[in-house]
Amino acid sequence: MSTDPQRWVAGHVASLPKSGIRDFFELVAKMKGQDVISLGVGEPDFVTPWHIREAAIFALERGKTYYTSNLGLIELRRAIATYVEQHFNVTYRPEDQILVTVGVSEALDLACRAFVNPGDKVMFHQPCYVSYHPSISLVHGQGIAVPTYARDNFALTAEALRAAWQPGAKMLMLNLPCNPTGGTCSKEQLDKIAAFCREKDLLVLTDEIYSELSFDGAHTSIASLPGMAERTIFLHGFSKAFAMTGWRIGYACGPAPLVDAMMKVHQYSMLCASIIAQEAALEALLRGWDSVLKMREQYHRRRDLVVRRFNEIGLKCHSPRGSFYAFPDVTPTGLTEKEFAVGLLEKEKVAVVPGTAFGENGTGHVRACFATSYEQLIEACNRMERFVGGARRA
Ligand code: PLP
Repeated sequence: MSTDPQRWVAGHVASLPKSGIRDFFELVAKMKGQDVISLGVGEPDFVTPWHIREAAIFALERGKTYYTSNLGLIELRRAIATYVEQHFNVTYRPEDQILVTVGVSEALDLACRAFVNPGDKVMFHQPCYVSYHPSISLVHGQGIAVPTYARDNFALTAEALRAAWQPGAKMLMLNLPCNPTGGTCSKEQLDKIAAFCREKDLLVLTDEIYSELSFDGAHTSIASLPGMAERTIFLHGFSKAFAMTGWRIGYACGPAPLVDAMMKVHQYSMLCASIIAQEAALEALLRGWDSVLKMREQYHRRRDLVVRRFNEIGLKCHSPRGSFYAFPDVTPTGLTEKEFAVGLLEKEKVAVVPGTAFGENGTGHVRACFATSYEQLIEACNRMERFVGGARRA
């Protein structure tokens, strides 16, 4: 009989590909203590604003250490409803259309488990956030990647959707602004995508976690377009805008029967999000907006710096309209994205992530996260310039 513990691992888990990001960070970890500048991890470099941390401390002092309702604290759901109505122009009832989750990550997982039958087809634009395809695979769904291109500033187009569509497709996952490209869609593009979703009767899962980090004009949610709220699950969270990645708190909004389906899974898996994180999230929504503005200004300034410098260096880089990621084209160096990332790390101690970690449509690109101080970014760009010069001469 085999003694390999691997024999107990379920087939659909064993067959998941190893995350390209994890692969790369193992390499970065080996260089600990070597003055590495990391543009790798997609996480704010700010600490959660003090008044939000204080709200959590205060909650503990008042003995708030218990489970909440499965849906989440009603005060928090009310604040979410107000925020979503004011910022996205969509109205949800706090009582049965909002579910507080353990980050957007849990909401994504719940949606896949609640809506995807084995064999169901789920479309998503690619390059995309690393969790999307595995979340579909884990429920035995079939992912359909829809390419986005640098020439379109990585905006998803209705034409690309139509070209990739297959009969039986059930759901479309959207992430605008997008990790890793920073791409988003104009209102006109979104209108066309929405019309396509109505025509093909697609359920839409829209992950708008970077919406507060939109730099060029207003953000539009697909959920706000005519006839879309009834077929859309809207996901958002606190990790990026409020610098709250470690708190693990987010939410899903949508038609009551769909939120209830997600709740059914949530009540048997997570029960509820941490009450301490919920209290902090409530404070963030009520009084955190000055901090969001200040952080956004910093990201905006950094975006302009890295885009200008990357283009000066000869790495063609469109200007990401949102998020804190730039996705430059490294092919002018004659290196593949992996060779570029490994070479840059080994020679100049700057970590960026090969674009293929986000799907094959990321070929030829790397992701550089600019959630790092301005001074560090200047230094990282100088090092990159040296590396690119060397690569060109080689
Ligand atoms: N969605 C996208 C597009 C992300 O980039 C991330 C994190 O990087 C998440 C979701 C995870 O968010 P959360 O921290 O709320 O689980």
